[in-house]
Amino acid sequence: MNHPPNHSLNWIDSELAGLERNGLRRQLADRMGAQAAIVQLNGHQLINFSTNDYLGLASDPRLTQAVRTVLDQQGWGAGASPLISGHSDLHRQLEQKLAEFEHAEAALVFPSGFAANAGTIAALVGPGDVVFTDRKNHASLLDGCRLSRADVKVYPHNDWQRLDQLLERDSDHARRLVVTDSLFSMDGDTAPLVQLAEVAERHQAMLMIDEAHATGVFGPSGRGLAELQEVEARIPIRVGTLSKAFGSHGGYVVGDQSLIDWLVNRARPYIFSTAAPAAVAAASIAALNIVVQEPQRRTALLERAAELRRRLTNAGWNVGHSASQIIPVIVGQAETALRLSAALKQKGIFAPAIRPPTVPKNEACLRISLSYSHTQQMIDQLINALGTPT
Ligand code: PMP
Repeated sequence: MNHPPNHSLNWIDSELAGLERNGLRRQLADRMGAQAAIVQLNGHQLINFSTNDYLGLASDPRLTQAVRTVLDQQGWGAGASPLISGHSDLHRQLEQKLAEFEHAEAALVFPSGFAANAGTIAALVGPGDVVFTDRKNHASLLDGCRLSRADVKVYPHNDWQRLDQLLERDSDHARRLVVTDSLFSMDGDTAPLVQLAEVAERHQAMLMIDEAHATGVFGPSGRGLAELQEVEARIPIRVGTLSKAFGSHGGYVVGDQSLIDWLVNRARPYIFSTAAPAAVAAASIAALNIVVQEPQRRTALLERAAELRRRLTNAGWNVGHSASQIIPVIVGQAETALRLSAALKQKGIFAPAIRPPTVPKNEACLRISLSYSHTQQMIDQLINALGTPT
């Protein structure tokens, strides 16, 4: 609906029209039923390559049963922020189990991964401090940097040598923080965590990593890329997620007890937001147990992802530097990505087009997100539907 002339929100109408013209306007689609390998989106039944439910746990009956049991005992709403009365025994149990799982002293569960990232950065640095952030970091990390009011220095993607130089030259800030995704959410490539840890140590800077897409997927125990690269003990601030491979909801931070105590006192998105329902914590506990007990989910997923990357490359598609279950098919222009995504939809497949500003200009792609719940037949169908680039 366009506003009448002279309305104070008129500018929104022209901005939206501009987005539309450039193929950048986003619209919500409504999913009916469960988040799974086959979904109903806007009334169409589609093979779903869009979900971060990497281990196929989002609709696992063990999670739903855990929720049901708690609902009967505790009801639904948490009713208050954690420091008032929102932090339940189940939140405590989840935090203890996460700390144990992550080989850390303590853990803190936030209502979302976004809140975990933004709140943690803003609690660690402020005016007079500096934060160094990878150019391809997730929006929640970047917004945390902005929220903190520290100086923000963006370093080129994965360029730890440039970061080293920037830290070397920087002498006029009190606290210094380096933040990076461990697995980049759109490109599916990985950060050089060992080198980053060395650089951070050399310059006595704090290092924080966001394992959102790696939690539950990478590492012999599923703790993420820091575990795989054997560098966990050298990274003092690690963020993980419950919303993706765990199939539940929320984000968490692990580290020293003092770090966690500080966040409880200073992370404003934690302090001033209502706690997630206890039933959500119960689902996360059930998911954590599955991640620990069923490592075959992550090993099978990563094997199938390597195979899919190989087949796409052989067909002539550009999958960039993906080394994971997140596989971008990079086509360049937003319009091309939209056309390709629409053509797949006609063939019963959903792979979302990712456009600026989520990715840089000229790097529009289809983001294929592989899950343990995809069958070989579904993967074959995707390959066949994509064919070869024209
Ligand atoms: N970090 C990364 C790298 C992400 O991709 C996302 C969400 N897509 C988040 C953090 C935020 O997590 P949540 O969805 O739980 O808010």
